[in-house]
Amino acid sequence: MTTETQQETLGFQTEVKQLLNLMINSLYSNKEIFLRELVSNASDAAEKLRYEALENGDLYEGDGDLSIRISFDKDAKTVTIEDNGIGMTRSEVVNHLGTIANSGTASFLGNLTGDETKDSQLIGQFGVGFYSAFIVAKSVEVFTRKAGQDKSEGVHWSSTGEGEFNLATIEKATRGTKIVLHLKDAEEEFADGTRLRYLIRKYSDHIALPVIMQQEAQPEVPAADDDDQSVEKEAVVLEDETVNSASALWTRNKSDISKEDYNEFYKHVSSDYGDALTWSHNRVEGKQEYTSLLYVPTNAPHDLWNREAPRGLKLYIQRVFIMDQVDEFLPLYLRFIKGVVDSASLSLNISREILQKDPNAEKLRAALTKRSIDMLSKLSKDEDKYQVFWKAFGNVIKEGPAEDYANRDKIMQLMRFSSTHNEDDAQSVSLASYVERMNEGQEKIYYVTAENYNTAKNSPHLEIFRKKGIEVLLLTERIDEWMMSHVFDFDGKSFQDVAKGELDLGEKDNEEEKKAQEVVAKEAEGLTERLKESLVDKVSEVRVTNRLTDSPACLVLNAYDMGAQMKAIMEAAGQAAPDSKPIFEINVEHPLIKKMDGETDEDRFGDLANIIFDQADLAAGGQLADPASYVARLNKLLLELSK
Ligand code: ADP
Ligand code: MG
Repeated sequence: MTTETQQETLGFQTEVKQLLNLMINSLYSNKEIFLRELVSNASDAAEKLRYEALENGDLYEGDGDLSIRISFDKDAKTVTIEDNGIGMTRSEVVNHLGTIANSGTASFLGNLTGDETKDSQLIGQFGVGFYSAFIVAKSVEVFTRKAGQDKSEGVHWSSTGEGEFNLATIEKATRGTKIVLHLKDAEEEFADGTRLRYLIRKYSDHIALPVIMQQEAQPEVPAADDDDQSVEKEAVVLEDETVNSASALWTRNKSDISKEDYNEFYKHVSSDYGDALTWSHNRVEGKQEYTSLLYVPTNAPHDLWNREAPRGLKLYIQRVFIMDQVDEFLPLYLRFIKGVVDSASLSLNISREILQKDPNAEKLRAALTKRSIDMLSKLSKDEDKYQVFWKAFGNVIKEGPAEDYANRDKIMQLMRFSSTHNEDDAQSVSLASYVERMNEGQEKIYYVTAENYNTAKNSPHLEIFRKKGIEVLLLTERIDEWMMSHVFDFDGKSFQDVAKGELDLGEKDNEEEKKAQEVVAKEAEGLTERLKESLVDKVSEVRVTNRLTDSPACLVLNAYDMGAQMKAIMEAAGQAAPDSKPIFEINVEHPLIKKMDGETDEDRFGDLANIIFDQADLAAGGQLADPASYVARLNKLLLELSK
């Protein structure tokens, strides 16, 4: 052995230090998960080796039996996890076991609250990984050598998890990685065969590789005819025992897989810490042969809205792991779905580039998209669970109609909204239930968009709908108006924004009302003309309303104008929203409008007109273009009142 072992001490990336501290404290109550994480990594390493060996069989170095070995030493208080997978080079060790290669790390750490329960959930979503070893270990040693490299290229990594780690080059005869945990004094209990076997079965049963432990020596039982001294005591041969089922979970029969197994496998493929909300496991035979196991997480990951965040499924081809985070198989609006697909129709040497063009991959995408939608619609039968899903991922699903025209109807069925039908702000009304409740003669699905629930619920535009008992959907998410611009109808009923265009309630017997309205409009012509003059810079039209019962006035958009939500989206994206003037609708029955009509002083008329206009803008959740003038005008009137 050379004396140059190239020793060095390096500092962990700042984020690792923070994460280590947090994790050790907040995951303490669930400390046993360290084993799952390390076995999960060992399994990944074996799969990577198997994949690379497809091209270069030499990497097996004559040993193709991949497995994970777990051993312990009660006296030394150690637990050892060893694999014969791909191993790591020195620079890989530094990168993987010294930093966190996750694009959202900083924002994630910024989201932590200091509240342990909440934070442990967040950390779970972030993925605890290798560093979880430090929950139970006071120091950790890693011995590793990359497959295919010389035995002198081994690496020894060690750390106490307190800011630094040491590296040295070592000789390592076998490829792969051995991790030795030097247990904290209080965690000696893990250096125990029964405990470890239990944990392997509990957390790692789904791992496709054998997880092997040595059978423990049985205490010697004195034989009955012990007096035959000539028989020498046999040396105890400890046999290997495979502790887990050692077959890929998705290849097993559904009926043989427990809920717990499904959830543990979910944690392995998702690096989520909590259970999945639901899953769908399918085997398809025939021309497109594949098995898929798709999961819906319970919680949204912290980087759901980060475009660069990793997403996608794990791809296996005939049980061989091919690649991770394959995003070709699902559209963006289903990016939260995790799982595996194991195909028999794709070729083993497929690359990401080929995958994008492969017609089989395209068919698989269509099939998996459909499966995912079906899984969600099945989930929607359980309203409570579906609400959990909708709160976490509803806004992502709303990208669907624009992205996936072919499945638009099905996606629309997954939508849930707040509604005037509900007492509270729960987004729980489906379009199907709305349609079921529609009034006789009602032809449209009415909705209002606003920045928040209260603005929507109290919008003056709803007054006539309340009076007539017509339900209106309250669309309060930023994305809603944009989404609605991509859908036209549902179940043959078109959508109508109640704040846009002419209001047609579609009732057959309202001819009389219409006539009466025309008469009123005629009578009010003088007033509407005067208003138009006063508000010439602000409105495109002034007309008598048929929407209001209580409010003096409201603003209406032309049918194709952009609403406030869309404008906000464009402005947030740094684009100028097109400038369009609203229609000003007045309620001539309202005393304030009547008073205005009788106002002969043109100055005061102008002030009143502007105030009522600005108030209508405010009631719709708008932001006044010139709030100071509004206040000045209002104060002037208030002073006159007190004269
Ligand atoms: P993740 O598994 O989510 O990538 P981990 O913190 O568990 O995150 O592991 C970090 C990285 O360290 C892995 O992605 C892998 O590159 C490397 N690694 C960890 N354990 C092993 C191992 N047993 N063999 C080879 N590489 C490993
Ligand atoms: Mg891992």
